[in-house]
Amino acid sequence: MELLFKGGDASLLPLSTSMRHEDTSSSFRARQDRLRALMETHRLPLLLVTHLVNVRYLTGFTGSAGILLLGPREGWLWVDPRYTLQAGEQAVGVEVIEEKKGILPGAAKWLGKSGAREVAFEASNLTCEQFDRLREKVGGEIQFKPAGDLIEELRVVKDRGEIEAMRRAGKLTAVVFAEVLPHVRPGVEENELAAEIEFKMRTRGAEGAAFGTIVASGARGAFPHARPSSKALQQGELVIFDLGAIVDGYAADMTRTVYLGQPNRRVQSLYAAVVKAQEGAVREVQDTVTAGEIDSAARRILARYRLSRFFTHSTGHGVGLEVHERPRLGKGETTCLRSGSVVTIEPGVYMKGLGGIRIEDTVLVCPQGPEVLTPAPKDYWVIG
Ligand code: ZN
Ligand code: ZN
Repeated sequence: MELLFKGGDASLLPLSTSMRHEDTSSSFRARQDRLRALMETHRLPLLLVTHLVNVRYLTGFTGSAGILLLGPREGWLWVDPRYTLQAGEQAVGVEVIEEKKGILPGAAKWLGKSGAREVAFEASNLTCEQFDRLREKVGGEIQFKPAGDLIEELRVVKDRGEIEAMRRAGKLTAVVFAEVLPHVRPGVEENELAAEIEFKMRTRGAEGAAFGTIVASGARGAFPHARPSSKALQQGELVIFDLGAIVDGYAADMTRTVYLGQPNRRVQSLYAAVVKAQEGAVREVQDTVTAGEIDSAARRILARYRLSRFFTHSTGHGVGLEVHERPRLGKGETTCLRSGSVVTIEPGVYMKGLGGIRIEDTVLVCPQGPEVLTPAPKDYWVIG
């Protein structure tokens, strides 16, 4: 088998956390300050944060259960006894309160006694049942006000530490792909390759995979979100790999497509068209452009090859602590990209029978243009 792909330089990967503790701690305080400024603008004296990713973003606490209440000058974090020690070590700028009988009722009771008149909450993150329970436990006359997506909006622009983590996640993802490519050959199961990718992510220092790795070969590649199966790869097939590592909580998201054997002209020109659309859209990425303009850049290029109708999803999405964040890079989206945002650019074409071709990179929006965070080559795609 001829392998037309040179692996990344593994020695370039810093595997341990490079941020010093004081840096980390000051960035959590800075995030809380930015949120408090927004709360003041929206006249929200208290904000109850139940979305765990947002709790982590604001305090650094990484446990699987915790509720944060942020006030104008102070903050409280309710955790159950499993997390008292961990929260004490991790959580910045808040008082940790251990609650043995449920953190939501605990926070509610505390609120009820606090004398507060109004509290904002993350409406999109509480079920009706949780909200009813919260209101009932709080009792009294407290007004609940939906906070909208204040924190999600803050998360759109990444700070220095976040960008550093995302650079490492992107690089690690590209290196892992390079290391797995020599195993890509007819007879190997999709499942085996997905497992190998996730194993290598961990051994290279990632916390894990940001999402279930996609390996979709042949006709299965026509489903953009196919799950890997026990199907074995065959000569003469396209294979889509969609993978992303998590480093320090931050995700990368990258897709590459390869062909086993010698592709015919049709497949070659399809691949070239997708690469052109992807690179053309990446070049457009800067902070003066709207998300919708990036999407139409990719579509315009595919249209030149009469492929628009085979591109069935949006061009990309924001990435960060979650794989799918704001902004959405889709048709007609009017939000302007902002410097410090991280987005994916991932056009693809999907055809019944033939399968799919998708190319995706995670890209940082910089004042001077795009910085691609997932540096795996696209021109070496023929394995045979
Ligand atoms: Zn992806
Ligand atoms: Zn994606």
